[in-house]
Amino acid sequence: MSVLLLAELDGDALSPSTARLVAAASLLGPVDVLVAGSASIAQSAATIAGVNRVIVAGGPLLADRLQELLEPLAAQYQYVVAGATTLGKDVMPRLAARLDIQPVTDIVAIEGPGRFVRPIYAGNALETVTDPQSRHVLTIRASAFRPASGGGEAPVEIIEQPYDSAVRLIAAHRTESDVPDLSTAQIVVGGGVSVGSVEGFKLIERLGQSLNAAVGATRAAVDAGYAPNDWQIGQTGKIIAPDLYVAVGISGALQHLAGIQGAKKIIAINSDAEAPIVKIADVALIGDLFDIVPKLTAELDAL
Ligand code: FAD
Repeated sequence: MSVLLLAELDGDALSPSTARLVAAASLLGPVDVLVAGSASIAQSAATIAGVNRVIVAGGPLLADRLQELLEPLAAQYQYVVAGATTLGKDVMPRLAARLDIQPVTDIVAIEGPGRFVRPIYAGNALETVTDPQSRHVLTIRASAFRPASGGGEAPVEIIEQPYDSAVRLIAAHRTESDVPDLSTAQIVVGGGVSVGSVEGFKLIERLGQSLNAAVGATRAAVDAGYAPNDWQIGQTGKIIAPDLYVAVGISGALQHLAGIQGAKKIIAINSDAEAPIVKIADVALIGDLFDIVPKLTAELDAL
């Protein structure tokens, strides 16, 4: 057997990023997907093209036994893969330590067996690494890969829950939102500190609604309390790769750019024609955001 992929879940559903991870992992060999969740989530995973087999271990409080679940399975695979997400960053380093394997993290391209590309220096450079170990523990940036298509019919195999763990999950809190998820959204509108207030940030959210976009923010906007922490995009926030990123009143600091390098097109709305974000934007609207954004929103609503 070749690749074991830990599925990303989104509450009681399969995260769209899992299809992207399957596409990436398929470059390494046949992919078995491990779902630590319900049978219906496993069925969703089984429909992703390229999945060889889905292994499901369900039941309450399984999240605190992931380590115990993964470890014996991992021994059977050449590659154990997860997303470079909160889940992957939590589970995979511990797994790698237990298996005495040096993990390769944050992979954005796979050049061949044991040959990976990953960003360094806050995304300012890409390094290609070769991993000579016979077995590999990897985390992959799902946003760097196109999703695998549907139409698969992989068999689903239920396995026993692992033995009890010393770790206990006390609670998991989910931020409910009806806007698209930042990490997988096709359109993202980001707001900077120049919106000036929580009220000012509502302009960004309104534009986001008109575009059916996810909403993000710079660290400066988050630190100022204009936007919640989990909206932060950048080196110390979320990494996004939308088809379109609309950056409103954002200077384009290196740490912010580190989070948007996967964006296919960038529109910058900024009063400063010399701002770094304007230099890299595909389209720039130079002017006052308090003037441009309401007009743009109204135009979009009228379509
Ligand atoms: P500013 O840099 O102040 O830019 C404001 C922009 O708004 C300017 O370009 C200005 O021309 C424009 N503007 C002003 N008024 C208007 C108006 N009325 N209409 C239109 N445009 C206007 N930052 C992140 O975003 N994400 C990170 O993950 C992150 N991680 C960091 C990690 C470290 C270790 C450090 C040191 C910093 C990090 N930062 C991060 C902070 C980063 O360096 C910048 O300070 C931040 O991104 C700037 O945010 P901003 O663009 O909102 O503000």
